[in-house]
Parts: sequence; structure tokens; C-alpha cells
Amino acid sequence: VSDLNLDADVVVVGSGAGGAVVACHLAEAGHRVVILEEGPWIKPEVYGQMRPSETIRHLWREAAMTFAIGLGDSPMINVMMGRCVGGSSVLTGGVCFRTPGHIHHIWQHERGLRELSEAALAPCFDDVERVVKVQEVPVSMRSQSTVLFGKGLEKSVGVSLVPLRRNTEGCQGKSRCNFGCPHGAKLSVDRAYLPRALAAGAQLFPEVLVSKVVTKGGRAAGVVGKRVEGTERRVTGKVRVNAPTVVIAAGAWHSPLILQASGVGRWKDQVGRNLTVHPAFRVMGAFAEKIDGWKGALQSAFTDRFESEGMTLTSLFVPPGVLAATMPGVGQTHLAKARLIPHLGIFGGTVHDEGSGVVRRAWVGREPVVTYAMAAKDKAVIAPMLTRMAEIWFAGGAREVFLPVLGSEGVRSMDQLKRLHLETLHGSRFESGSQHPLGSTRIGNSADSSVVDSYGQAWDLPGLYCADGGVVPSSLGVNPQLTIMALATRIAWRMRERLPRRAAVA
Ligand SMILES: Cc1cc2nc3c(=O)[nH]c(=O)nc-3n(C[C@H](O)[C@H](O)[C@H](O)COP(=O)(O)OP(=O)(O)OC[C@H]3O[C@@H](n4cnc5c(N)ncnc54)[C@H](O)[C@@H]3O)c2cc1C
Repeated sequence: VSDLNLDADVVVVGSGAGGAVVACHLAEAGHRVVILEEGPWIKPEVYGQMRPSETIRHLWREAAMTFAIGLGDSPMINVMMGRCVGGSSVLTGGVCFRTPGHIHHIWQHERGLRELSEAALAPCFDDVERVVKVQEVPVSMRSQSTVLFGKGLEKSVGVSLVPLRRNTEGCQGKSRCNFGCPHGAKLSVDRAYLPRALAAGAQLFPEVLVSKVVTKGGRAAGVVGKRVEGTERRVTGKVRVNAPTVVIAAGAWHSPLILQASGVGRWKDQVGRNLTVHPAFRVMGAFAEKIDGWKGALQSAFTDRFESEGMTLTSLFVPPGVLAATMPGVGQTHLAKARLIPHLGIFGGTVHDEGSGVVRRAWVGREPVVTYAMAAKDKAVIAPMLTRMAEIWFAGGAREVFLPVLGSEGVRSMDQLKRLHLETLHGSRFESGSQHPLGSTRIGNSADSSVVDSYGQAWDLPGLYCADGGVVPSSLGVNPQLTIMALATRIAWRMRERLPRRAAVA
């Protein structure tokens, strides 16, 4: 048994997109920073060489088997995230969006967050984009899967795909970003921010599970937890870090657990509520010819043409071996389906959802129970979105389309699709995934409707900050990593001004 007892100026819980950014800025400002991360520390040169099935075991939380339980007319949503140094940032497709203008408008005019205007956050986005090297994906890197969907979009709707921007440098288009970049080309936070934090003196402890914030005299005074080592997660000791400033950045799925266990927000019952996930659905088109959709950038283009209808369509692909494992059938039937892989194109559709998820502590085990009651208006987006994507695939030349409907075979025409009556299907019939849990400890302008203020400070516990996907005030409709990092930058810059300078000398 080896207990860990440390003193610091700032303890940061979670080393993902939010935590790494805060840790870096505060360490560089001279504060003694300790970072505690539940997952293992696997270096890019090691995870880059792993098979996808190995990274699922070592970098992904619960081997990607984490779900939001659909209540009522809602799908069961497979919400994926990372559990490793660098957090989910290590697993992204690299897609980078700034917060859309209409979302800033909602924050300012509907949520009363005047300070979160596009102009006010621009310097934070500029800083993050410079650090993680955000750049547009050249058209030449588009996979044939994306090219054919783009052709279909032009033919059926008359608009072109728009290039995505990503945090990559020297991408070789191997389409396996979600399993850790094999070439170190993705500037995830374990490459872009944590080395800077460490160089500035921050200490990083992997395999530490934080359970609670400790308080003293009505202020945050540190955290406690335990060491959980190896894939079997053996408990090897207790952890206590004494620090007058605590930053919880364990992600929207887990930060509420730490806050709830610490009694934070107890009276207002906001912690863990308002979770949004961007429920996403994959639609595949099968072509007569081989298109080898995995050749090219995993994600390279999108269309927000249908944003006013609550949907965004984004290119993606899945490594062939992983795709085969998700296909139906056994034996020869499965083989026949897997043989289709070189002929398949894949596109993703995301619903811009309302905050209808709730994160609660489970009676047993480490993971929370998360429920998600999809709003009727969001459920109503699924059928038209899948229909539209099928139309686009057919217009692009697909001869068969596979919908994310459990138990359904491929459809060969729009007439056949119409006979499925997608709009009448119960939510539980749809296969949905998500990589974007947000909002469960959200920023707001009062303790009655939020957990923290716009600088991440908890309403009811001085010295306690949140800085991760949980603080995002509303669903975004686009991939969130850049918004999370920009908000974390804003929070860190403010803390840098406000925290006592004592540490710089220590
Ligand atoms: C497969 C995948 C693909 C994605 N692709 C994109 C994309 O292309 N573009 C985009 O914008 N976004 C993408 N995302 C989402 C993006 O990665 C997340 O929104 C972002 O990383 C969330 O940041 P965070 O700080 O909230 O949490 P995370 O980055 O998940 O970090 C939280 C960290 O806290 C640790 N932790 C949790 N509980 C504790 C505890 N009790 N004690 C100690 N440590 C703890 C976790 O292990 C984790 O490492 C993707 C996500 C996934 C999973």
C-alpha cells in the first residue's frame, strides 16, 4: 500500500480537454499544480501502435460500454469517453468548431450570460486554436465515402459539403483517430497542453480516482480519493491533496458524482441535471464498386444546411475490423455482411438536443446511472434526418442503404424506406451513439438554474471550480472540444488573475 499525501496551490481532477488546459495555464503562472487522473498514462508513441481492441481496453472508459438509459420514447444511447491521461481528447476525430453564433445568442439573450459573447470568447478560441494547431482539412484528404455523400448532397439538395477544421499537423489519413493517432499527428491535450504543464512544474498522478472535495471553514480545501492501478484497477492506497483551490474537470459524466458526494449544490438540485449528449446516428450507403472508405481523413467535411431543423451531418468512418464487429449475423451471414465493408460509405447525423439527461450516483459500482428522456421535439428529428441521409446516399449512387434501426435489413429504394414508417418507431428501436456529454454542472447566472458562474466558480463553495464539458451552458449542435477548451481557458485566465501569488515564490 502506498498512500499519497500532497500539498498544492491548485489540484485539478481530470486531465482531459478541460483539466489539461487549466492545469497548463496555472502551472505556467507559477502555481503549484497537482493533476489527478483516474486513467493510465499511456504515451502517444505507445497507444499509436496499439490495435483498436487494445485501445478500447486501455484508453476508453469501460471499453466503450457506457450508456444513457433511454426513458420513455428515447433511444438507449451509447455515450463514449476516454479514461486515460488526456481524457476523451485522445480519442477525438480531431473535429474543431468554435461555438456557433446562434448559440452565443442563446447564452446571452436567453440565459442572461452577456459576458459569453462571441467577441468576448474570441481571444480564448484564438489561443486554443494556436496551441492545438487547428487547420482546415484539404479536399484532397476526403475519403471516397465522403466524396460520394457530397455528390449526393449536391444532387439532391443543391449544396456542397463544407471542409471541417481539425487539430492535426501532418495527418496521414489512416482513419483511426478514435483509437489514438498512430502518427502523433493529432494535437490532443496530452501532446499540446500537458507537456507544457509538466515543464512548468505541475505534477501529474495517473490512476488516482478522486471521490470527494474536502472543505474547511466553508471553503474548498482539497480532495480525497484512492489509487486504482492496472487494468484490474487494484486499490493500492489512499490519496489526499490539500489545496485551497480545487478544479473539478472529470467530464460531464463524472464531475457531478464528485460534487454530489461533497454536498455541493445540495439545496438547489442542479448538479447532474441538464445533461445533453448530441444523440448521433450512422447511416451507411452500399455501392456496387469498392470505395475503401477508410482511406482518407476519418472526418473531413460536414453540412450545417439543416441546422434550423436541429440536425448536423458530418463525415466519418470506422476502421474495418471494428465495423465488422458491429455487423449483424453469424457465420456465413456475418461474413457476407463484412465483405460489404469496402463498398460502404458512412455518414453521421447529430441531433442538436435539449438538456434532458440526469447523472446520479449508482448504489453499487463506480459508474453513474445516467437517464435520458429525449424531448419530443428531438425525437421528431430522428426520422426526417435518417430519411434525408438515405436520400442523399441514393442520389450519390448507393444501391442499398443501412439505417440505424435495430433488426432492420438494408433498404434498396426510398419506397422501401417509407414502408418502415420511421416516424412511428419507438425511440428504443434506434441505435444511437454519443461522444458529447455536456451541461451537467452548467454555467448560468443563478444557483437556481446552474451549478457554476461563468468563471467556473461553484455558487455555494468558495475555492471550488468546474472546467470541463459539464460547464457548457447548453447543447451546441456541433462537436464541443474547442468550446470546452475555450471556456477552460477563460476560467484559467481569470483564476490566474485572482489566485494569491504566494505559490509563485514557493
Ligand atoms: C470517440 C470520441 C470522439 C470524439 N471526437 C470529437 C471531435 O472530433 N471533436 C470534438 O470537438 N469532440 C470530440 N469528442 C468529444 C471530446 O473529446 C470531449 O467533449 C472532451 O474531451 C470533453 O472534455 P472534458 O474535459 O469534459 O472530459 P474528458 O476529456 O473526458 O476528461 C475527463 C477526464 O477525467 C477523468 N476522470 C473522471 N472521473 C475522475 C475521478 N473521479 N478522478 C480522477 N479523474 C477522473 C477521466 O478519466 C478523463 O480522463 C469525442 C469524444 C470521443 C469519446
